[in-house]
Amino acid sequence: MHQNIKEVFITAEQITEKCRELGKQITEEYTGKEAPLLVALLKGSVPFLSELIKYIELDIEFDFMDVSSYSGTESTGEIKILKDLDRSVKGANIILVEDIVDTGRTLKTVKELLYTKGASDVKIVTLLDKPDRRVVEIVPEYLGFTIPNEFVVGFGLDFDQKYRNLPYIGVLKEECYK
Ligand code: 5GP
Repeated sequence: MHQNIKEVFITAEQITEKCRELGKQITEEYTGKEAPLLVALLKGSVPFLSELIKYIELDIEFDFMDVSSYSGTESTGEIKILKDLDRSVKGANIILVEDIVDTGRTLKTVKELLYTKGASDVKIVTLLDKPDRRVVEIVPEYLGFTIPNEFVVGFGLDFDQKYRNLPYIGVLKEECYK
């Protein structure tokens, strides 16, 4: 285990198993329908996307968006698009791929934006959910793990851009925040 990690919340094996289950669920739900376009939000969702798509047995496509909230306007959920999608989403069945849903503001705004751009349907798959922190109504259709209100790192999740490469989800030691 990394020397700065206090506790492992979710092991690499548990993540793999969960991705297998979620991939199977998505495969079953979209079989016979137009295959979904997975839209992953950079950078945190990259390891999750990579693992999840191994278990989706459909002719999916994936693309990336990078968004950030405007400083000082966090409460409005206004976001700045740092990288937009490479393709049109008109008529697409989209699955937004997130590492963690916290307040829900990012996903609510991105979801509305994709509908404005003409998507037929927008669903959400997230590896982690912190429902205690929610301030807007967002319910992921596909959920990995519900976690308590703790700041976690690993498997895409960072602190100061580090720890994204840990194969598990863990809690940092307090001294690392100082
Ligand atoms: P929200 O749902 O509040 O709009 O934001 C979700 C984003 O906040 C996530 O994509 C992630 O970047 C960040 N975030 C929320 N909770 C955590 C956490 O526990 N650890 C890390 N590393 N990032 C978090």
